[in-house]
Parts: sequence; C-alpha cells; structure tokens
Amino acid sequence: MRVIVLGAGVVGVASAWYLAADGHQVEVIDRQALPAQETSFANGGQISVSHAEPWANPGAPLKALKWMGREDAPLLWRLRADPAQWAWGLRFLRECTAARARANVRAIVSLGLASRSALQALRRELALEYDQLERGILHFYTDPAEFEHALPQAALMREFGCERVPKTAAECCEIEPALADSRIPVVGGTYTAGDESGDARRFTGALARHAGARGVSFRHGQAVAALRREGGRVVGVRLASGERLDADLTVLALGSHSPLLLRPLGARIPVYPAKGYSATLALPDGVAAPTVSLTDDGHKLVMSRFGQRLRVAGTAEFNGYDTSLNAARCAALLRRTTAIFPALEGLREVEYWAGLRPSTPGNVPLIGDMAAAGLPGLWLNTGHGTLGWTLACGSARLLADLVAGRDSGLDPRPYRF
Ligand SMILES: Cc1cc2nc3c(=O)[nH]c(=O)nc-3n(C[C@H](O)[C@H](O)[C@H](O)COP(=O)(O)OP(=O)(O)OC[C@H]3O[C@@H](n4cnc5c(N)ncnc54)[C@H](O)[C@@H]3O)c2cc1C
Repeated sequence: MRVIVLGAGVVGVASAWYLAADGHQVEVIDRQALPAQETSFANGGQISVSHAEPWANPGAPLKALKWMGREDAPLLWRLRADPAQWAWGLRFLRECTAARARANVRAIVSLGLASRSALQALRRELALEYDQLERGILHFYTDPAEFEHALPQAALMREFGCERVPKTAAECCEIEPALADSRIPVVGGTYTAGDESGDARRFTGALARHAGARGVSFRHGQAVAALRREGGRVVGVRLASGERLDADLTVLALGSHSPLLLRPLGARIPVYPAKGYSATLALPDGVAAPTVSLTDDGHKLVMSRFGQRLRVAGTAEFNGYDTSLNAARCAALLRRTTAIFPALEGLREVEYWAGLRPSTPGNVPLIGDMAAAGLPGLWLNTGHGTLGWTLACGSARLLADLVAGRDSGLDPRPYRF
C-alpha cells in the first residue's frame, strides 16, 4: 500500500520504519528540515515503563488547585478562553478516579513493556547509538508523604509486570552515589532495573537514516495544510504549497498538532499540548553528576545522562501552543537540580528548551484506524503525552500489526479512539 506518515517525530519515524518493514511504500512528511525537531528534540530521555502513573489520578485535582497561579509550580493550568482546553480539562477530571487511573496504568505498562522490548530488538538489529544507558531508573523522594504515595503505585505496576521495587534511602544512594550529596535528604525510592535512557533526537535521526536506506522517502520542510477526503475516505493530504499527495493509508503522527488537521473534518480527538521544559548541562570532567536515570517524582522532574551532558526535564503547563521559555520555570528546574546535586551549582553551559507533550486526559495514546469515526483511510498514532519516547517503538509496531491484521499480543482496545 501507499502510506503517508504525517510527522517525523519519534512516533512518526518509528511508524514509518515498521510499516516499511511490512513492505508498504512509505513517505514521511514534516514541516521541519530534519527529524525530531519539535517535541522529540530535547525530552527527558527516559525509557520509563515505571513512569506509568498518569497525571490524572485521585490526588491530582487537589494538587492542581493548590499549584494554580504559582509561576514555578510543577503542574500549572493557565486557564484560557479555549473550548479545547476546557473540554480536555473535564475529560482529565473524569480520568482521576481510582478505577480509571488503574485501567490507564495497565494500558501504559502493557504498551511500555512491549515498546521497551521492541526498542532493544531494533537497537541490536541496527547497532543504533544514541547515548543509551541500561542502568535502570530510580524514582527518588525527599518528601515522606510522596514516598508513601509511590509505594502502592509501584505495587500496581508490579501487578502488571513492571518490576518497580521499593528502596531505602541508603539503597538509593548505593544505586546513584551522587544522591548522597543532596542538600535535601532522600527519604526513599523505587528502582526499575529494566528501564533505560537515551537521546530521543539522536535515536530518531539514526532510525530515519536506516528507514531511508530501506526505501522510505522523507519530505522535510513541507507543512501539511489539510487532510483530503473523497467519496467518504481520507485519500491523502494537501500541502501548504498546494501540492496534493495520494495515499491508500494516511497516518496522523503530528504530536500536539494532530487535532488541528482533524477539526475541519468535524473530528475531535482529546489531545492537548502540555508544555514542558528541559535544561541540558554540559558537565566538566570529574563532576559529581548522576549517571543513573532519575525521577524526582514530587517535583515532576526527570534526569538522564547523555555522555558528558545531563538532561533535566519536566514540569507541565497547560497554556495552548505557546513554546516560549518562562524564566521562572527555567530557574525552578535548575534550583531543584542543584539542591539535589550541589556539585552542579555554577555550571555555565546550560541549554534551555520547551516542548509540547501531546497529552490525552489519561496519558494513554491513540493508536488505530478512524473508520468508526467516519474517516476510513486515516490512522492515528498520537497522544503519547509524557511517554512518547518510551512508547514510540511499541506504538509503531502495534500500528503496523493492526494495519496488517496481525495479532500483536497486545489488547488494542485501550488505545482505540
Ligand atoms: C519536557 C519534556 C520531557 C519529556 N520527557 C520524556 C521522557 O523522559 N520519556 C518519554 O518517553 N517521553 C518524554 N516526553 C514526551 C515525548 O517527548 C513526546 O511524547 C514525544 O516526543 C512525542 O513525539 P511525536 O512524534 O508524537 O511528536 P513530535 O516529536 O512533536 O513530532 C511531530 C512532528 O510533526 C511535525 N508537524 C506538526 N504539524 C505539522 C504540519 N502541519 N505539517 C508538517 N509537519 C508537522 C513536527 O514538525 C514534528 O516533527 C517529554 C516531553 C517533554 C516536553
């Protein structure tokens, strides 16, 4: 089949790879000059099945209220006159029950485990290099109440197959010795040995090169203006240049921008941008910086080591499609990092970045065809929220399996629109 994949982020490129592996003729369209220039550019770098707890959980509404209006809050709602934001917010509240949170954790862990295995297989097959580290992920806590909250969450993930195990404060410092210097004592943690980290941008670029060698064609610097519907089917796209492209199957993998192309066709998917920040620190030789990938759950921060760089990422701001850098939020990121790792204080080479997580209310991505929504010919692989890097390979493989009518070993229902 002739397939057009819209978007050359980590999700679109992985989709192209697995669809081409099935013998389809694949073309990828992206408005940027290179792959992974938007949300996949400088994320937290974690392959974290252990991060399966969605923001939408029973404790979230109270926390969000408490943080409202605080410029440096880990999770900040900036209320706008935007019906899409309000509709998304209401659906988010519906996902905050214990039963919905449990179902979402199950869906994320299942896809996450499949995705991690798919990534490992791909890495072996193609000898990919992207500053990957296989040292597990340590969630650490400096607040006893946050640690208490994490223990049943970790137990829930273990129930679904993710081996996230509790650790004492001393064990946390054995796993990551740099934590011993923290000005705010660590009270405990959980460790997931099977989780990993790596640079999503480097991975996406490398996979795109392999996909190109396999026959996938990439058209960069081309904005998609509209999906084309003829005779009740989506039959391709119209580019901003006016050019029309035909396809038997069109895959929407435009991250946070996916809903915008659907609106003119009368379809609304619950994907809304959740802005996050990252700071990438160039590390001098010998500095006491972490090498194990870390999650500072209470502050919604993650840290990953890429060679001589440390990436710190996190915080969430619901503020539409704005990607400007807010000085207070950048400063909060660095303040917390240097409180935990005082040796990093005063580092001068820091690159800040902000990106838009394509978030669904329950953080479960949308994967599958849109025939039931009246748009046959159109497939979704979008809405990966906080976990697009973790879930990219598994989501792309699931998509290819669904297109082929193959059993993927995963129940596809939680990801259907
Ligand atoms: C601060 C932060 C930290 C994160 N940390 C992690 C982490 O540690 N682990 C993890 O698993 N995930 C993490 N994520 C989430 C992850 O980065 C995203 O879920 C993922 O990058 C989404 O990938 P995507 O391919 O769907 O979207 P994108 O990477 O945004 O790709 C979409 C592509 O579509 C293109 N595009 C959009 N509109 C058009 C158009 N009209 N025409 C043509 N092209 C268009 C864009 O140029 C872009 O290349 C983090 C995100 C943020 C913001």
